[in-house]
Amino acid sequence: MRKHKKRGKSPDYAGNAGIIATIAIAFAGVIVGSLSAYLGQKGADAAASASTNPVRVSSKIVDKAQIDREKLISRILAGEAPPERLTPPRSTNRLGAETEKPKIILIIDDLGIDRRASQKAIDLPGPITFSFLPYGKHTLDLSNAAHQRGAEIMLHLPMEPQGSADPGPKALLSGMTGAEFLRNLEWNLSRFGGYSGVNNHMGSKLTTDVAAMKTLLSYLNHKELFFLDSVTTSDTAVRRAAREIGVSVYSRDVFLDDVVGDPEEVKKQLALAERIARETGYVVVIGHPRRETLDVLGPWLTTASARGYELAYASALTTMGTSGPVQIASAPKIRF
Ligand SMILES: [Zn+2]
Repeated sequence: MRKHKKRGKSPDYAGNAGIIATIAIAFAGVIVGSLSAYLGQKGADAAASASTNPVRVSSKIVDKAQIDREKLISRILAGEAPPERLTPPRSTNRLGAETEKPKIILIIDDLGIDRRASQKAIDLPGPITFSFLPYGKHTLDLSNAAHQRGAEIMLHLPMEPQGSADPGPKALLSGMTGAEFLRNLEWNLSRFGGYSGVNNHMGSKLTTDVAAMKTLLSYLNHKELFFLDSVTTSDTAVRRAAREIGVSVYSRDVFLDDVVGDPEEVKKQLALAERIARETGYVVVIGHPRRETLDVLGPWLTTASARGYELAYASALTTMGTSGPVQIASAPKIRF
């Protein structure tokens, strides 16, 4: 999320230490990257059709689809009438029938700190993907409860922001050595289980660091976890890092509650999310366990399906055929 209360000062890093750490991180990235490439090949040989393996397609086609989708979204944001409509991604529902309803992927993150608010979020009608902070006092309990009830859960990974906001204990910082970075990453990943992927908590600084992102994405890929960029900065280098190491990543399109305390704003953002889903086939929405968000989401969730939308879990992004971006009607047919 973008807006957090300022709770402390971020540590200062000496210039030299930063450069050395960056080199160390880059080096660690190469090691982990090679390892994951090796394991990835083995995995592909063993189970070519495993649904958890991201589908590899030509990065040029993926990039074009992503760029076209982003252009369309920026036109929607600018209030322009869309000149073209992208075809929704084809997917298969539980009954095996093809469906082309616009998909809404709703993620509620920052869970595990406030028990009552987290519980209220988990009690909403789904499908909703719940993303828990590894250091949350109630994370283990509540993530187990949500997972046992069949919901998809994710890990909300604390990362260094710009400015002085505190991302929380054991956050990933750009001034760390490669060893520190991996130690903190492993600590975070070991706090609870059952999650299918990871999205960043804060991270407006760390996600601009290509070397650090390559290390992170290589590591997650090797653990068969997807990464969804919360996009807390427009300078995010996550996609570039992903392209350089050949893995798929996904991005948040709409924040529901950047304007705190205003239910009308949440409704406006939901309308925007619906429009992006209609025009591009799907939308990735992130909200937080705030009173106004949960109050608006309750009734919206109960009517979304009747209004023609399909709520989907975040992992649906990994099986959309073009590993995230939608297939455009005019794009060449993708062959696997
Ligand atoms: Zn967050």
